Amino acid sequence: MPAYDVIVLGLGGMGSSAAYHLAARGQRVLGLERFGPAHDQGSSHGGSRITRQSYFEDPAYVPLLLRAYDLWDRLAVDSGADVMTLCGGLMIGPADSRTVAGSRRSAERWGLPHEMLDAAELRRRFPTTDPGPDDVALFEAKAGLVRPEVTVAAHLDLAARAGAELRFGEPATRWEASAAGVRVTTDTGSYTAGHLVVAPGAWAPRMLAGLGVPLVVERQVQYWFAPRAPIADFAPDRHPIWIWEDADGTQIYGFPALDGPDGGVKVAFFRRGVVCTPETIDRDVHPAEIDAVGAHLGRVLPGASGRFLRARTCMYTNTPDEHFVIAAHPEHPTVTVACGFSGHGFKFVPVVGEILADLATTGRTVHPIALFAPDRTFGGR
Ligand SMILES: Cc1cc2nc3c(=O)[nH]c(=O)nc-3n(C[C@H](O)[C@H](O)[C@H](O)COP(=O)(O)OP(=O)(O)OC[C@H]3O[C@@H](n4cnc5c(N)ncnc54)[C@H](O)[C@@H]3O)c2cc1C
Repeated sequence: MPAYDVIVLGLGGMGSSAAYHLAARGQRVLGLERFGPAHDQGSSHGGSRITRQSYFEDPAYVPLLLRAYDLWDRLAVDSGADVMTLCGGLMIGPADSRTVAGSRRSAERWGLPHEMLDAAELRRRFPTTDPGPDDVALFEAKAGLVRPEVTVAAHLDLAARAGAELRFGEPATRWEASAAGVRVTTDTGSYTAGHLVVAPGAWAPRMLAGLGVPLVVERQVQYWFAPRAPIADFAPDRHPIWIWEDADGTQIYGFPALDGPDGGVKVAFFRRGVVCTPETIDRDVHPAEIDAVGAHLGRVLPGASGRFLRARTCMYTNTPDEHFVIAAHPEHPTVTVACGFSGHGFKFVPVVGEILADLATTGRTVHPIALFAPDRTFGGR
């Protein structure tokens, strides 16, 4: 008999949540993580992540978001940690932009509460914004931010309390699967289980090479600025999260000013990343990049673009259509995979953990995940 019911490979955003959901169901869980708990070397760090329900990417995500919100609330209660702040959210741009039109489509399709604001109304209601005459906005009160490191730590803590064995600083070097179960090898050990959940983030191109999904890892940068205007104007009780699309399709987004080590207004470009690997990523952030994001911020939220505070790199793992991969491994029924979160996965962390636990224990889930099949046709979006 294998030593564990399930091994979870990778304890970042998705893996920590899976480990918790599995252990809470009474499974004997081993979690293996290359780095320490809630580290800053992958995709789940930087203090904040946007969450929203009027999802411009595709209305198919909305039922998952509704479930995720319930689970975020439950996680906050169970852990006592401050994982989510609903400060509202603005999706801004031309009316036919992906950000505005796509968000509106999801909101209307699912009857989600939202308000449409023209440029004058946007400026009146949110005086930190400086919209152009063609900009409009969708405001969603239930948007806000979630905290990646706090969330990963909370899931790890709850998983350990439910009996999961979590091993840090122990990268898996390879895994093998058969109908009988799985074996995962590290530099210091070899472990067997009935099932394996592989959630390796930016290491997926290597750990899931046989999956056949053309994944591309991208360097992304998060920047923090001290606002020029009074900081109180940017506090989470006054200021929403925002995503602002230009006429040329460039998306920039940002957060209210948080306290503590994550303090300042955080801002980033949504895509535009440089292709990299976890080994080749340039972790330095260069003055020209800081000038470019600062100038763009100054155009849309002039009062936010004061002194540059700091910047941190992070990685996206993109699929060609920017939809996730969550499924049983097509060639190994005893393996479940979760990867390719394409820069928008964190808000789904609690529900992805639930889905992975469903798939690992029963082979199926009630959640709609057809969009995330690894053997879909990848046409690009
Ligand atoms: C700058 C930036 C901004 C983002 N903004 C948002 C946002 O606003 N809203 C949103 O919803 N999403 C956002 N995202 C995306 C979101 O953060 C990611 O989709 C999510 O964190 C991915 O989680 P993951 O578990 O796949 O990866 P990770 O959290 O990186 O976890 C993978 C883990 O696997 C471990 N691992 C890898 N290989 C091995 C191995 N061989 N053995 C053991 N362990 C291994 C890694 O060390 C890592 O801990 C953003 C991402 C970035 C980078």
